[in-house]
Order: sequence, then C-alpha cells, then structure tokens
Amino acid sequence: MRELEERIRRDGVVEDGSVLKVDSFLNHQMDVALFAAMGQEWARLFAGEKIDKILTIEASGIGIACVAAQQFGVPVVFAKKSRTKNIAGDVYRVEVPSFTHGTVNDVIVSKRFLKAGERLLLIDDFLANGAALEGLIRLARQAGAVVVGAGIAVEKAFQPGGDRIRAMGVRVESLARIGSMSPGRIEFC
Ligand code: 5GP
Repeated sequence: MRELEERIRRDGVVEDGSVLKVDSFLNHQMDVALFAAMGQEWARLFAGEKIDKILTIEASGIGIACVAAQQFGVPVVFAKKSRTKNIAGDVYRVEVPSFTHGTVNDVIVSKRFLKAGERLLLIDDFLANGAALEGLIRLARQAGAVVVGAGIAVEKAFQPGGDRIRAMGVRVESLARIGSMSPGRIEFC
C-alpha cells in the first residue's frame, strides 16, 4: 500500500536490533485517516470472505483493528497480556514471547468472546518472527474458530514470521513489506 510505504519512508525510524519505530503515526500517536485507508485496503483484500469477528492483541493492534472492523461491520476482540496466571478455565491462554521487550507474556481471551465455527480475521501492526500472530492462531484453534487470514500493517520480510505463518496455511496480507532496512535506509519488497 503506497500511502503506508511513503509514510514509513518519511516518518519511520530504524533502530538497532532490526526495530522500526513508527510511533509518530502507528503505535503511540495514531494517524486515524491513515488507519481508515488501511482498513479499506484490508476490506478490499478480504472482500468476498465471510468474517464474523476481528481478533487482535493489545495494545498496538487495537486501533487498526477497530477501523478494519468498521469496514467489515463486525466486533473486535483483543487478546490481553495477563500478569496473573489464570487457571480458572474461563479463558483460552497461550504464551507469547515479545519481540520488542524480550519477555514472555501470558496472553488470554475470555471463552465468552471466541466460539467454535466463528470466522476470524487476525489483525496486528507488525509481523517479525511471527510469535504474536502464531499466538492468536493458537487461541483461535483452542476455541475451534476458523482463521480466514491475517491483515498486517508492516511485515519485516527479512525475518522468518511471514514464511512461517504462510507455511501453516494462513493467508497473510501485509500492507507494507520491508525487504531490508538499516538506520537511514528502508527497502520495500
Ligand atoms: P513477532 O511476534 O512477529 O516477532 O513480533 C510482532 C510483535 O512485536 C508486534 O505485535 C509488534 O508489537 C512488535 N514488533 C515487532 N517488530 C517490531 C518493530 O520493528 N517495531 C515495532 N514498533 N514493533 C515491533
């Protein structure tokens, strides 16, 4: 998506350790007009698919998931990063290593909000090693829900996540795919 690529080129900052900072428009301050265009693009890409719900992970996925949900006319469920071990049996739970923080999060969704047979579109801001997206896929599978596909804002295609998730048979649509980057230089695929 040209508009997103141009914005990343203009305002994205590549930091050491293969992290792209996009906090001026995507995941701290948020450009809602850009989000709306992203939502429209996912709606175009997944047109013709029956989608019942959008599933994302807190916190950065929530804003873009909401604008996408407006396009599809469906609710958003966001998986929560939980500090307390929840063993009550009323939640689906997976462990997800965090790319940016180097920690492992317990990620949960209430069983009330994911049901067997529901058709889910997964949304997240970044796809790097694929741990966050794989966590959402595992939550969906625990519920017996169907993953229609994943809409990603920025895929760092030089990291293994995209290939790994596509090899699981999940359709991944990334609006910007970065082939390589270093401080001051970003190349799109
Ligand atoms: P993965 O689990 O695919 O390795 O990483 C995805 C998660 O890590 C995303 O939800 C995102 O929050 C974070 N992330 C991964 N790479 C980057 C990056 O380059 N920049 C930022 N801002 N977040 C990232």
